[in-house]
Amino acid sequence: MPTSEATELHLPCKRHKRMGTLQAVEVRVARALAEYELTGDPTYQASACCSVCGEPSYYTYNEILNFMPVAWRPQPLPESHGWTLLLIEVPAAEHLTERYLFGERLLVQFEFNDNEYWYGTLRSPSGMAPSMPLGSRIGGNYLSGTPIVTTWFPEGHSKTIPVEWPAPGTQDIGSFFIPKDAPDTLLTANLICSNPSCGRFFSYNYSQLNQVLDEQATIGLVSHVKRILTITCPKCQTARVVDEACINSLYKL
Ligand SMILES: [Zn+2]
Ligand SMILES: [Zn+2]
Repeated sequence: MPTSEATELHLPCKRHKRMGTLQAVEVRVARALAEYELTGDPTYQASACCSVCGEPSYYTYNEILNFMPVAWRPQPLPESHGWTLLLIEVPAAEHLTERYLFGERLLVQFEFNDNEYWYGTLRSPSGMAPSMPLGSRIGGNYLSGTPIVTTWFPEGHSKTIPVEWPAPGTQDIGSFFIPKDAPDTLLTANLICSNPSCGRFFSYNYSQLNQVLDEQATIGLVSHVKRILTITCPKCQTARVVDEACINSLYKL
């Protein structure tokens, strides 16, 4: 198995394992494409042509994963862990029909969660509430199915989260909107990384993704042309596929 020191890796040709590689697509992109295609076709195998013999090789999702260095593979979250969202409102113009918020994903080990409330232990550092230490007991409610952080329980008391305005250049912040006439609805303007253990948002918004989609309509590996693109997480390097339905699910910025 290759080591994670390489910056990019290509799957080997199954006939010429020492010489030929499937140059058309990098292994992380191949994984993302297989993950995407398997949702519609459970028999999907990634394929591309060999740089030496020109013949195609076919790879299942697990074969692709096994070829990747362990550090490059998406990692599942530990049991009972999940991502919550800490929000801070951006002062927006009065005439807007939505409230505008910045949000940071915080990893929590849940002790309790039902459809209305949750509480648990903070397992990732917060850039928006840096005075709240790892291991803090926190809780909250839900907006559109997403657990929202509202309360900190230091030494058994309950306290509003000490949220600070994100410093310029702060990473891992997404944009969110709550319609003023539908206060239980949370709309998101950014996609999340497809690695379950990564809390990163992609900074591209609806317009930017549409522009890239128009410029980059095909990807080497897929034989049939689809309007999809792949984006790579700057934090964990996991690639994900973005299609039009995915872009259309975003708040239109
Ligand atoms: Zn070959
Ligand atoms: Zn990531």
